Amino acid sequence: MPIRLLSQSLINKIAAGEVIERPASVLKELVENSIDAGATRIDVTVQAGGSDLVRVADNGCGIPAEEMPLALAAHATSKLADVDDLFRVATLGFRGEALASIAEVSRLVIRSRTANSPSGTQIEVVGGLASPPAPCGCPVGTTIEVSNLFFNTPVRRKFLRSTQTELGHLSEAFTRLALPMPEVHFTLRHNERTMFELPGGEPWQERIARLFGREVADALIWVENSDGQVRLSGYVGHPSQNRANNRLQYLFLNRRAIRDRSLQHALGEAYRGLLMSGRFPVAFLSLDMPPDLVDVNVHPTKLEVRFQDSGRLYSHLLSTLRNKFLATDLTSRVPASAYNYEDPTAVHDEAKTLEVRQRVVDWAKGQVSSWGGGSRASSPPADSGRPLELTRLSRSWGPADTGEEDPFGNIPDQATPSPTAESAPPLNPGLRPGIGDANRSEPHTSRPVQALQVHNRYLITENEAGVEVIDQHALHERILYEQLRGRIESGRIEAQTLLVPEAVHLTPQECAAVLEHREVLARLGVRVEAFGGDTVLLASYPAMLANIDPVEVLRELLEPLLSGGKTPDRRDLLDELLHSIACKAAIKAGDRLTPDEITSLLEQRHLVDDAHHCPHGRPTALVFTREELDKQFKRV
Ligand code: ADP
Ligand code: MG
Repeated sequence: MPIRLLSQSLINKIAAGEVIERPASVLKELVENSIDAGATRIDVTVQAGGSDLVRVADNGCGIPAEEMPLALAAHATSKLADVDDLFRVATLGFRGEALASIAEVSRLVIRSRTANSPSGTQIEVVGGLASPPAPCGCPVGTTIEVSNLFFNTPVRRKFLRSTQTELGHLSEAFTRLALPMPEVHFTLRHNERTMFELPGGEPWQERIARLFGREVADALIWVENSDGQVRLSGYVGHPSQNRANNRLQYLFLNRRAIRDRSLQHALGEAYRGLLMSGRFPVAFLSLDMPPDLVDVNVHPTKLEVRFQDSGRLYSHLLSTLRNKFLATDLTSRVPASAYNYEDPTAVHDEAKTLEVRQRVVDWAKGQVSSWGGGSRASSPPADSGRPLELTRLSRSWGPADTGEEDPFGNIPDQATPSPTAESAPPLNPGLRPGIGDANRSEPHTSRPVQALQVHNRYLITENEAGVEVIDQHALHERILYEQLRGRIESGRIEAQTLLVPEAVHLTPQECAAVLEHREVLARLGVRVEAFGGDTVLLASYPAMLANIDPVEVLRELLEPLLSGGKTPDRRDLLDELLHSIACKAAIKAGDRLTPDEITSLLEQRHLVDDAHHCPHGRPTALVFTREELDKQFKRV
């Protein structure tokens, strides 16, 4: 085929493919224009998930009649004058292609009027063909109606999801625009139902409350710190407001919502030790900096940006939050089990540590009394199996034994009983697939604990030969791996279908690898579909990973996929993927286990051929034989 210049219509369609993915993209582009036009009130109306109608009406500056046709032309913008402007963008738009792209793939009606014009002007565009401008009556400002989106691009239209799904995307896009603009009055209506009514000029916390509810808004901590040219400010959630995924993390750069993996990581680091593993903090953070310190022209929808000094931003965010947490009393409302006291990087506090120790001791006391009316643990009732002698181990927490009847008599009693490990809310069982599953129907304290958890990471147990120290993560990982392999051999792993398929943006290599290995992923319960560009739609995930963000599960699998199962010490790709899933799903070092979970974990050891090594080949347990111990203590 000879080389030809593309027609303008085709160019616009291609641009639409990049920028206009779904009704939510239309909403985003139109509302951005309204904000750039200085509107103080923006009303958004959508119908049928936006595929029938997206209408945005604003009271901004309006478009002069003679410029109306230009507004709809490709590469026409009022926001950039020369090349230098591109490197200090202060408006949300600047490419001048949104309106042209939308008009190419829908039926678009625009009405606009400036303050010094007695009447407005209207243009209608159907599939890129514009009617001549005509006068019309309308208030000052601009109203744009986009109906029948993708009517002339059936492939795109086919990719539109259910009304509910599209509405989810619409309200997320709306939220991301309305959040950083508290001075603007926003409304969102769907099929005549008002979803959000956000009065302008309220405090930011109020806007957060209207968008996310009181509970979230009431548990926010204000942070603020200026580092020369960069100002960080906003709210982070109290650790009690954690989530199973990072969707409640909003980051704004010069009032534009962005995603930034590095800063998200810094946020996670700041909460390290304050949240259980697998949980995510809530955050609404704004960065303000001179526009020339950042390049916003690296992503078609400007979701990602490039910072001049991202390392400095990372430490700026991390240190601001850490310092704030150190100066804040975070204990008041957090269930104690949410803390990971043993993590060396955790926020440490003497009183808290003592409280935890006390809880462990109290719990151990409860165990002892349930075995034999508070008498010596070394003589438990015959029917309770052979529990570990908790009395001796427990002594390491308290002062020396006084030789009293009650082995814990020397530990000061508290006036009000502190919560025991058992009464503390158990960690979400979904985080611990395979642990306690078999026993959930049984009462919580029905069985004796066979091991003691120390440092929230090791289990200590005794057997005929001696004492065993078990790495809880390694053992659980091994058990899960074996279970997964068993299930794969007898068919496939149970999949959980996502209510709303999730669009996952990948790099071109990642996208190619994911699609190439679709079949293997499907066997693991991870179903993906191509979605155009480097985006895939994630439709299901392994049911046993219920409490992990499905997108994270997919991302976890990327590394083995990219290496194509070629890691020398592994057998094949499927096996590597199983390892990744087992590792992700297993309890972590730092997770506090309930007595039942400990027991259940130990009981499943026999299910595993080689319980002494994790799938990575590291040992899961170290055994100290009695002979060895005797020798070490110079008894023999
Ligand atoms: P961009 O926002 O990148 O400039 P668009 O295609 O989104 O490109 O819009 C083209 C031009 O139309 C804008 O530069 C602006 O001058 C004008 N315009 C669009 N929407 C509005 C609006 N709601 N109010 C005022 N002017 C608008
Ligand atoms: Mg625009």
